[in-house]
Amino acid sequence: MLNEHFDSIIRCGHMLNPGANGKSTCIERVALGIRAGKIAAQDSWDNSKAWTAAELVEAPNGLLLPGFVNAHTHLPMSLFRGLADDLPFQEWLFQYIVPLEGRLVSPEFVKLGTELSCLEAIRFGVTTVCDMYYYMAEIAEVLDSAGMRAVVSQHLWDWPAPDDKSQQGLEKVFLQNLVDKYSKHDRIVAAAGPHAPYSCGDDLLKWTKDFCDKHNVPFHIHVSETKKEVHDSVQQFGMSPVQRLAKLGVLESHAVFAHCVHLDAKDIQSIASSKKVGVIHNPESNMKLGSGIAPVRQLLDAGACVGLGTDGVASNNDLGLFKEMDVAAKLQKLAHNDNTALTAEQAFYMATLGSAKALGLDHKVGSIEVGKAADLVIADLNAAHLYPQHSMASLVVYSMSGLEVQDVWIQGKRVFKNSSHTTLSFDACKDRVDFYRRQMKF
Ligand SMILES: [Zn+2]
Repeated sequence: MLNEHFDSIIRCGHMLNPGANGKSTCIERVALGIRAGKIAAQDSWDNSKAWTAAELVEAPNGLLLPGFVNAHTHLPMSLFRGLADDLPFQEWLFQYIVPLEGRLVSPEFVKLGTELSCLEAIRFGVTTVCDMYYYMAEIAEVLDSAGMRAVVSQHLWDWPAPDDKSQQGLEKVFLQNLVDKYSKHDRIVAAAGPHAPYSCGDDLLKWTKDFCDKHNVPFHIHVSETKKEVHDSVQQFGMSPVQRLAKLGVLESHAVFAHCVHLDAKDIQSIASSKKVGVIHNPESNMKLGSGIAPVRQLLDAGACVGLGTDGVASNNDLGLFKEMDVAAKLQKLAHNDNTALTAEQAFYMATLGSAKALGLDHKVGSIEVGKAADLVIADLNAAHLYPQHSMASLVVYSMSGLEVQDVWIQGKRVFKNSSHTTLSFDACKDRVDFYRRQMKF
């Protein structure tokens, strides 16, 4: 490894990696060499002294982490932050959010909301998102120019949508365009986003499954989020949403199931044995909307792949995964009256490698390994609330807020440098965000 030349060299006091067995690994005084967007070399700080690079970053008090993967979001909804909080789920969704979306959502709206969300996500160390919303082509453009990595899921349902008000089948056309445009992109992956089993009939779900199979793209859907959804599905179809999706063949292909709050033992078994479905746990959204507690412990025990997401800002109300990991771990402990139900290390795994695996991106991201993409975060450990340092996983999950993040790289590009954005400007979007706030009066 002597005299090697890289685009960037990162030297850090500590490095924490998730482990598939729920045991993370932490090493001290580490160096990474970054070349062509990938982690090209790893060695000790001292052994890397002969390396050369255009960019050298040394953080003796830093903790190097893999970029976090927020595996279920609705990025433009950041413009609804703090609006209509603390309402029942059905009222929140159908009396506030859906009518407002019908009135306000436009290409300009989604671009601005995505810009605001990218500013927040990067600042909190999120390097990959899996998004679902209207006007996904516009969202994807902003994500790309922000330098983010993303799975962009074109919204589909059987109701009028802001980007297909007359239900002319435009959403299917947008999906095809998205797949065509991003099929060879380094950071953006197109996906289908049929909204939920209750908003999509069998014909649309089957069409989407066949489309995903044909184009080898993920099928991203909300599943069994509320008790009412499961009750209505049993009434209407004689089976749970998961069993209906299984009957339609969805569990035989790569699918991303957001929420999965209300599952029975058969549903859990179907998901775990499919080996193609990633479940995305969104504990803060489920708590805030009063939806319930997802059976994460049971899913993990059954061998299911579980990642972590925030859901949209309107039901969270933020996009960072530090708080989400903390809540995920504590909520399972509370639900099971068992301090070991979900450990800090398991929560850290879910927010990184678990999410990456659920999205089919674990060969590229989710952990710090030579050959993987250089999606990296440095958090500053030099703070009173992070001393003493018995366990890095414990500090990351239970003590950090995310504001400790000071540097972020995505595909080797430093998008957050010494706590400043390099691809986006908060000042440049504040006035436009306030313009929309003034339009949201009831
Ligand atoms: Zn959602």
